[in-house]
Amino acid sequence: MGREIDFAAERGRMVDRLVRGGYIHNPRVREAFLAVPRESFLVPEERAEAYRDTPLSIGHNQTISAPSMIAIMLEEALLQRGERILEIGTGSGYHAALLSSLVGPRNVISIERVEALAERARSNLASVGFGEVTVVVGDGSLGYPDRAPYDCIMATAGAPQIPDPWAAQLSSRGRILAPIGPRHGQVLVIATKRADGGLDAREGTPCAFVPLVGSQAWPD
Ligand code: SAM
Repeated sequence: MGREIDFAAERGRMVDRLVRGGYIHNPRVREAFLAVPRESFLVPEERAEAYRDTPLSIGHNQTISAPSMIAIMLEEALLQRGERILEIGTGSGYHAALLSSLVGPRNVISIERVEALAERARSNLASVGFGEVTVVVGDGSLGYPDRAPYDCIMATAGAPQIPDPWAAQLSSRGRILAPIGPRHGQVLVIATKRADGGLDAREGTPCAFVPLVGSQAWPD
């Protein structure tokens, strides 16, 4: 029999490392990371690695992002309880659960193009009390107009540029956070909608996400 892993203790140590490393400043972001068990979003063979700060395979050639990368995005987004969020690229559902901790469960819609991943994400989310997050299957490069406007659109896959439909689906002063740039290796762009409907954008950290595959992004 192998040694049982104390995931709660490992989670606490990972969060301490993210704070010490300067990735987490906001106490609400810290609480969110403490509230969501990353191991519950992993395939069984990756579970022992749950609290390493690294992307891990979730099957279908996709990954769950490194916790430090998610922390950077959540810090930049300055999310308030009650804001409505669209996440593009549900993957495992882990990032959606963190978003739900920050804004409230009925305020998160997450879109995934791979149906099998969306189904597994729904079941992962429900298994740890985040079943009220809405996971839909579709091409997130088109946004998800049915539930617009959003206070924040957060993409966890990389696009060549910000797709036009996203800006159209943002509320006034809404934010987009997205990895933008070449297919392999992007920069995190943070854009805010102006009163005239245009976007003010700035560049944050370099990053490396899987490509956003869709009609307004990369071809399959
Ligand atoms: N946020 C995820 C998590 O917490 O596990 C990790 C996301 S993974 C890095 C990127 C995801 O984006 C993949 O699951 C991929 O299938 C999805 N994706 C790629 N293109 C997409 C698109 N056009 N619409 C929706 N999802 C897309």
